[in-house]
Amino acid sequence: MTGTLNRIIALALLPVAVLTITACQRTAEEPFAKVVPSAIIEVRDEPTQAELDKETQVVMLGTGNPVPDAHRAGPSIAVIHKGEAYLFDIGAGAIQNAVTARYQYDIPSLYPSQICCVFLTHLHSDHTMDYAELAYTLWWRRRKPLFAWGPRGLEQMTQGMVEMMAADTALRRSGVQPVQNPKAHKVNVTEIGEGIVFQKDDLTIEAFAVNHGEIKPAYGYKITTADMSIVISGDTAYSEKVLEKSRGVDLLFHEVISDSGLAGATEFWQNYHKSSHTLASDLGKLASEARPGLLVLYHGLFYGVPEAVIVDEVRTTYDGEVVLADDLDIF
Ligand SMILES: [Zn+2]
Ligand SMILES: [Zn+2]
Repeated sequence: MTGTLNRIIALALLPVAVLTITACQRTAEEPFAKVVPSAIIEVRDEPTQAELDKETQVVMLGTGNPVPDAHRAGPSIAVIHKGEAYLFDIGAGAIQNAVTARYQYDIPSLYPSQICCVFLTHLHSDHTMDYAELAYTLWWRRRKPLFAWGPRGLEQMTQGMVEMMAADTALRRSGVQPVQNPKAHKVNVTEIGEGIVFQKDDLTIEAFAVNHGEIKPAYGYKITTADMSIVISGDTAYSEKVLEKSRGVDLLFHEVISDSGLAGATEFWQNYHKSSHTLASDLGKLASEARPGLLVLYHGLFYGVPEAVIVDEVRTTYDGEVVLADDLDIF
């Protein structure tokens, strides 16, 4: 409420001309496929036939890392398949981006209380900060609870979240407020190991261990549907396992750290990052062998160099298609 008030006060202080320009820019730069007159509650039991018939889409809900960034939410990649949204990691800001994507691209399954499933690569905070945001946003309107898969420790994290939100869930369930499903605030958690962790129709999700230094376990995911194959690296140093899993896939989403950026860091940080993340030039080598249809860089650690430099560094060892993803990019 205070934030809203501040915003109203700030807007009231702005000159009219500035307001007009802002409004025009918003229309020109953010064309929404679906426009609603005000915030609405979306409820549905099952995906529509149109959603079921759609081909697989991938939406970047966050492309950042632990460093606060004005343009990038924490890492989160949504795979949309047959009217369900499968999120891989869920960094800070990802859920607000999901709301935007829901209307920008007209994807009903990205409405927060409609999101069915989240898969975590590891439990570092930059990959998990919006887990509570997802589980508790409009939970009283959820018909089905959220399902989550992730490494050992996810159960404990989820239990902590239940305790953190106990005041809210107790109040909403004990008063006059209608609650769709009193158990919908409890996430269904599965702690995983390597192997196929989810299968539905033509969708298969496989977890594989990656090398994120001392952070164990850490997983990457391979997602296969009838029309698309995808590998998501999660956080990892150069990994033969990622190479093996991503040979010939349509889309390889890979984390990356700038060679030149890291060269300017202190020895301590250089050692840490080299054991935990993948240098752009090494990623180029990996992609040269794996030959994905498209290499998509995300979770870029730039260390102060211009973002475009990281793409050039990958290109020193890779002649295939490569892009640096932005939030809300869609594939
Ligand atoms: Zn990370
Ligand atoms: Zn990490």
